[in-house]
Amino acid sequence: MPIESSQLMEKLSALTKRRGFIFQSSEVYGGINGAWDYGPLGVELKRNVKDAWWRQVVRNREDVVGLDSSILMHPMVWKASGHVSNFADPMVDCKKCKKRYRVDEIAPDYEETGVAPTQCPDPKCKGELTGARKFNLMFETHLGPVQETANKTFLRPETAQGIFANFQNVVNSTRIKVPFGIAQIGKSFRNEINPRNFTFRSREFEQMELEFFCKPGSDEEWFKYWVEERKKWYLGLGINPEKLRFREHAKEKLSHYAKATTDVEYLFPFGWGELEGIANRTDFDLRAHQIGMRSVGKWNGEELQDFKLVDEDPEYASGKLSYFDDEEKRRYIPYVIEPSAGADRATLAFLCDAYDEDQAGNELRTVLRLHPRLAPIKVAVLPLVRKEGMPERATKIYDALKERHAVVYDESAAIGKRYRRMDEVGTPLCITIDGDTLTQGTVTVRERDSMKQERIAEDQLVKYVDEQILR
Ligand code: ATP
Repeated sequence: MPIESSQLMEKLSALTKRRGFIFQSSEVYGGINGAWDYGPLGVELKRNVKDAWWRQVVRNREDVVGLDSSILMHPMVWKASGHVSNFADPMVDCKKCKKRYRVDEIAPDYEETGVAPTQCPDPKCKGELTGARKFNLMFETHLGPVQETANKTFLRPETAQGIFANFQNVVNSTRIKVPFGIAQIGKSFRNEINPRNFTFRSREFEQMELEFFCKPGSDEEWFKYWVEERKKWYLGLGINPEKLRFREHAKEKLSHYAKATTDVEYLFPFGWGELEGIANRTDFDLRAHQIGMRSVGKWNGEELQDFKLVDEDPEYASGKLSYFDDEEKRRYIPYVIEPSAGADRATLAFLCDAYDEDQAGNELRTVLRLHPRLAPIKVAVLPLVRKEGMPERATKIYDALKERHAVVYDESAAIGKRYRRMDEVGTPLCITIDGDTLTQGTVTVRERDSMKQERIAEDQLVKYVDEQILR
């Protein structure tokens, strides 16, 4: 049943709170803006999203390896990567109502025109806006007890730099050869000016990033390949194709380091929003660190005057972050294709896409039509009544299944009510143990979406559930 998009977000945030998917951080203290906690079901759902990504990007292939690098890094990483000078959004403040805006959000042509609005966009206020100021999105912190500039570093605003900084370690410690990728899932932090739209824009979030290194010249083909792979991933996990689009950035709108970028966008109830950015970053990052490494000790937290990325640099193509190609017998800095996705945004998209309401008898039923791989609970085991040996028989089935899947056992309330509880959190299968189980050794398996019921022999159950869930 189609749901008004104006209502969907409200319904979804109520459901996710009521059933323990997502809570506001520090709610008992009134909450803080831009941070979210995943409850018992949310943590399972998000973990399944991350596992599905890891399965596609790392485990199912021979040419990608994983990494888990630290959140705190040497401050030079952020200087060399360009984040200290460029990772900033222009913002304006209203002098009257004190609201703060990101200029590019209230004036989409700001980048071309350089002209920032002067009047508050809130029509009820119409106060005067300050001039645009750059606001760096990185959270500053200090290493050790002395809070001086020399100890300053940042919480990472992306996981990617940990990958570049470990490029040589991975090449030296594995037998992997270009083309190959390094993948990482982890927390990132950005001091967003306006966190909003539930978990979509948060200040603390998780990223799933792949840096795929390839020979210069093969980059355009690899870029296309990864756009296709990522499309398969979203569609394979059941995202409505009409709500997914791939938006190629126009050449003149590309960031200075990128040769091509395609954003993966989902039509959220609040409009199209980016789930993932896939970029051909050329050799920009490795080259930047190659040069950055030689400036260690020179940067004291302020601008480093002589810090420039120069192509003619004699050491540029032969330094530590270059790669020796055995076949070609030459050294070069690989190009990199970066599919960079947000775990929280993907989770939110899967939730929005799954939320549905339909008629079950004369009741309105809420159902999360999540792909079985993503569903936080795969199977509910339900004895029809709490007597006649049914709970004991059900417990046996529960024990056999829980080794393989996330299973719950529930013997409280009427069966219809228990089904409804499971539909609402997206559980694909409910197994009911009834009188026939005791006499004939069969159980009822009810499928979430169709509500169809089938009788399955108890000794076939493990196989049947595997087939349904591990699709
Ligand atoms: P946006 O334009 O929405 O701020 P971005 O282009 O800055 O995003 P990237 O730097 O490309 O984002 O980061 C890669 C991915 O990380 C995004 O596609 C998104 O899924 C996720 N991400 C980035 N910022 C946030 C955030 N504040 N909250 C949640 N996820 C985020």
